[in-house]
Amino acid sequence: MSEDCIFCKIAAGEAPADMVHQEEEFVAFRDILPQAPIHILVIPRTHITSSADLTEGQEWLAGRLITIAKSLAEKEGIADRGYRLVVNCGSEGGQQVPHLHLHLIGGRKLSGSLG
Ligand code: 5GP
Ligand code: ZN
Repeated sequence: MSEDCIFCKIAAGEAPADMVHQEEEFVAFRDILPQAPIHILVIPRTHITSSADLTEGQEWLAGRLITIAKSLAEKEGIADRGYRLVVNCGSEGGQQVPHLHLHLIGGRKLSGSLG
């Protein structure tokens, strides 16, 4: 755990969040500033700063982030309508929180723009 990382604190139950999924290595919770009716962040409990820090052998981790998001999209009732999965990386990628996270965004028609 990184001492001053808000997502590490949320994963450890040391900071509040609207948690929607918890398992051994991952948690998912609602974004505090949702950009759409459904906006969930899926994170590994382990502190990994960004996708740039994923190493060989962590493919399972990237894969699991996506399959958790897929299950949550079904649970939230947006799987059939479609949704967007986003991973921002680094400053030009628009990453604000330096703990790897996957955004699950949906529940409305999203614009085609990627920035
Ligand atoms: P990024 O820009 O790093 O990809 O996205 C970070 C996201 O985390 C933003 O959508 C922001 O609203 C969300 N966020 C930042 N701090 C908190 C927090 O303390 N709790 C929750 N639930 N979401 C947060
Ligand atoms: Zn962290």
